Amino acid sequence: MLKMEQIVKDFSNCRALDHVNFSMNKGETVAIIGPSGSGKSTLLRCVNCLNRITSGKITLNGKTFVDTPQGGKAQYLSDKELRILCAETGMVFQHFNLFPHMTCLKNICYAPIKVKKESKESAEARGRELLKLVGLESKADVYTAQLSGGQKQRIAIARGLAMNPQIMLFDEPTSALDPEITGEVLSVMKKLSDDHITMVVVTHEMGFAREVADRVIFMDKGKIVEEGAPEEIFQNPKSERLKEFLSSML
Ligand code: ATP
Ligand code: MG
Repeated sequence: MLKMEQIVKDFSNCRALDHVNFSMNKGETVAIIGPSGSGKSTLLRCVNCLNRITSGKITLNGKTFVDTPQGGKAQYLSDKELRILCAETGMVFQHFNLFPHMTCLKNICYAPIKVKKESKESAEARGRELLKLVGLESKADVYTAQLSGGQKQRIAIARGLAMNPQIMLFDEPTSALDPEITGEVLSVMKKLSDDHITMVVVTHEMGFAREVADRVIFMDKGKIVEEGAPEEIFQNPKSERLKEFLSSML
């Protein structure tokens, strides 16, 4: 479903990803954990082309959209082809990034209507189903500026799902929320995972990683240091770096 090979991402003053190899299967939920600056967000952003890699190869759903000739620079497909591929990924950010001047339903239907040229009727019918899925049917006609943080994030998840993406990417979806409302967002995500939506979740919620993820990736300094089933990662960490990180999270 997703295969990333030998990914290097350099910014002007640092190497954010250092020869990362990562792949996942359809239906899998992968949690990415690691200290600040370890490259977690960059890795996600390379999947949906918000960041362009320096070198390496990425294949999404059988289609290689960037590859690198021996000793050369990464070569991407055309912008038009990339836009089509990007529509196969849904992204949920820490700070929601909703349109505040639109209602919840409009936020969800915007991309299907604009990008996929769906009819208003079918987009809205699907939008209402998604509102139900995230438990916010009653908010269809409310402006998103009037929602709580947890509700905003549930709308952002519904909006991400509206394009029927092959893969959902979550970048610390609960980090900006008060602790007492993170649960409502995590339970929606658990539901998606139980429904076998393919998901990559960057998170500081160790409980979620432990209970919901099929596999956990630990990153440090632009590399994947350790990966495995949640039991292995949390009960039997091998590297010193992971042991330190886990004890700092307690
Ligand atoms: P956090 O847990 O704080 O969100 P992270 O693991 O998501 O951290 P990244 O945001 O991926 O880390 O950053 C990895 C490295 O790349 C950091 O050293 C960061 O400073 C650098 N970096 C990220 N984005 C940029 C950018 N747009 N320009 C320059 N450097 C960047
Ligand atoms: Mg980040």
